[in-house]
Parts: sequence; C-alpha cells; structure tokens
Amino acid sequence: MPMSETFKDRLFPVLKDITKHFGTPFHIYDEIGIRETGQLLIDGFSEMKGFREYFAVKALPNPRILEIMRDMGFGFDCSSIAELLLSRQTGARGEDLMFTSNNTSIEEFQVAGAEGGGILNLDDITLIPKVPEMPALICFRYNPGPRCDGNEIIGDPAESKYGVSHEQVTDAYRMARDLGAKRFGLHTMVVSNELNYIYKVQVTRLVLEVAERVTKELGIKFEFINMGGGLGIPYKPEDSPLDLHTMAAEITELFNQFKKRNGYMPKLYLESGRYMTGPHGALVVKAINQKDIYRKYIGVDACMSALMRPALYGAYHHISVLGKDSQQDTEIVDVVGSLCENNDKFAIQRTLPKTEEGDILIIHDTGAHGHAMGFNYNGKLRPKELLLRTDGSVELIRREETVDDYFATLSFEPNTMMPGKA
Ligand SMILES: *Cc1c(COP(=O)(O)O)cnc(C)c1O
Repeated sequence: MPMSETFKDRLFPVLKDITKHFGTPFHIYDEIGIRETGQLLIDGFSEMKGFREYFAVKALPNPRILEIMRDMGFGFDCSSIAELLLSRQTGARGEDLMFTSNNTSIEEFQVAGAEGGGILNLDDITLIPKVPEMPALICFRYNPGPRCDGNEIIGDPAESKYGVSHEQVTDAYRMARDLGAKRFGLHTMVVSNELNYIYKVQVTRLVLEVAERVTKELGIKFEFINMGGGLGIPYKPEDSPLDLHTMAAEITELFNQFKKRNGYMPKLYLESGRYMTGPHGALVVKAINQKDIYRKYIGVDACMSALMRPALYGAYHHISVLGKDSQQDTEIVDVVGSLCENNDKFAIQRTLPKTEEGDILIIHDTGAHGHAMGFNYNGKLRPKELLLRTDGSVELIRREETVDDYFATLSFEPNTMMPGKA
C-alpha cells in the first residue's frame, strides 16, 4: 500500500494544473496526510503522559514542514549544526531539541549548547569530558550489541557505530553525574524501516531493563526513554502497514510494568522521520525520452539527485502514470534519469501502463529521505519542493537548484601556500 488513496484523490485531479504552473520535476508534500499521521502517533500513545515525537529533521529538512511539526507540538531530532539552526528558526528551544549526533565535533557541541541549548544525547563515553559544559539534563544512546542478535531485520547492532556498549552504560551515567548532570534520559535506535511492530516492543523491553539496572546501581531516575525512529512504511503494494495501535498498547504496558517495579514512570519519546512524512510525499516527473534497445527505457526529467533511495539501497518506489492507472495496455520498462551511472534508475523491469513522451509519472513515498539525500554529482541539480496545503492550495517551499548554486562554491578569495615556508 504505497501513497494513500486520499492523497491520490487530493493530488491526481489537480496535478496537470500544478505541473502547468510550476513545471516538473518537483517533490510535493501532503499537509493533511502529515497532520493525520501526527495525530495517529499522539492518539496511539495518549495513555503515556508526556509522550513526545521529536521529528527526525534529516528526513525532510524544510522549514515549512518543521513549522507543521511544531504546530502539532513536536520537537526536533537534530544531528548537525544546520539541522539545529533550521529547527531553532521555527522557534524551537531547549527541550524542544534533541541533539542525537555521533562522532560529534566541538563546534557541534558549541552550537547545540547555544541559545538555550537542547537535550544532549551523547553517542559515546569518551565524549563526556569533551562536552564544553555538562548540562543538567543528559541522555546516552545505548547500543545493545549482541543482546539483539538472531534477528535479521534489526541487523547486527554489534557492527553498528552508534551508541555506548552494554558494559559502558552505567559508567557513562556515573561520569556524567559526577560532572554535574542531574536529570537523565536513555536512547536507543536499532531498527530501520521496520514494519513488524514486535521488534520495537522487544527493544523497548530491553531498554527498560537497562534503565532499571542503572536506576538500581546509581540511584538515578530516568525522565524519558527515547526509542528513536525506524518505524516502517509500506513502500510495496503488497506490504501491510505497521500496526501502530498494537505497538503503542504493548509499549504502554511495558512502561506500566516498569512503574510497578520501580515506583516511577519515564516519559516516552520517539524520533520518527520516515513514518511521519514518507508516504506523504511524491516526486512528480515528466517522461521526456523513450528508448528501445535490449530493454525498454522511459527517460524522465529528474534523476537520482532528486531521490537516491533506489540507487543507494535498491529500494522500491511505486510509480503511477497520471491518467493511466486503470489502463490494461502495459509494458515492462526501466524508468531512468540522465545521470551517467547505470544505477540511476527509479524502477527496474517494472510493469507500467504504456507510457508516452509528455506523460506525468508520480513516484510514491518520497516524503522522507528523498529530496534531503540529493547531491550534485555529474552537475545534476535538485528539484523544487511544493506543499499541498490543507485548503488545497499549493505553495512553493523550496526552489529548484540552479547552475549558479552549483558554481557558488567556486567563488572565493584566492588562497595559495607553500608547505614548509612561514
Ligand atoms: C535517521 C534517524 C531517525 C529517523 O529514522 P526514520 O527511519 O526516518 O524514522 C531517528 N533518530 C536518529 C538518531 C536517526 O539517525
């Protein structure tokens, strides 16, 4: 079940008009869908007092989207200086911001600590003395390592660069407390694009056990448990959506049991990116060429600079051809961009309605890790971003890149030195 029928019903009838006004290609995001998913999260965890979603900014770092998140009461999960600045531009301050970086630089710590700071989520024990000033509230990212093994979908946390190990976790909190930390959170994220809710529940159980152990050993209480992102979305027509309702109920139950055993209940935080915006975006392109050699190719006016996921992960993105959804006459094609890399393909050997030059193609589920991942290799430029607002109007929320943008970093003061000479 790729993009929802309701998003289609809002978009497809007006898409010709939109392409006439804005041209192609563009990513377009559905404000109603984003708000509905936000509400789903809020409702799902309504029994957990203080539940908060920290939208993972990297998924869709556009100020207008961040404003919608903020309007829903969400905070922001940032992992770079630019993401912190973007989030602060919306008015987010202090505990509205979660700084979940890794391999963190001193400059990043400085910006994270400026303007009222944010919640520092430290990725490693060796970073503790590098924090310019230990804040009152500190969080650590926990990596369960082999404790999560035997599960292909989670991957092997023991091979992941993130977080403090099981053996280090108590020491990490002890060191932070000795340096003045008084309030504590615990974070983990070991699943990615996971559609089976059970893994999130299993990892929550594991993390609550860690919280319990540290509580007992150090006598500290955890204000929150941050379960990160990784909630999956159905990219393929045959995928079933994540059962958020059951997941939320089972996680709520685990927290209730924690409260019974420990006499207090931490708040639950999430850092969803994909789940919040993924299905609520589409990349709209035009077929500009066709070629028929050993395979049939449909050439479109965007390339992997607009959407890396198929090339990077072999990811599936569903494709519709505007006005041809119910057409019986189909063919098997590769849908390709113009980049000089043979993995620049939006679809490989896909059955599509017979497509002609000038047809509009809608590439589904590009609302997260889509535009944001783009690059400029081969002199390719990223497309514009549009927002389909709740009242049906369409707003330009980022212009397309131009050749001038590409040349911008070539404009600088001459600077040459001879190594070894003063
Ligand atoms: C990428 C990321 C997220 C969001 O992941 P999704 O799969 O988009 O939900 C959340 N937290 C951290 C630390 C991340 O790196």
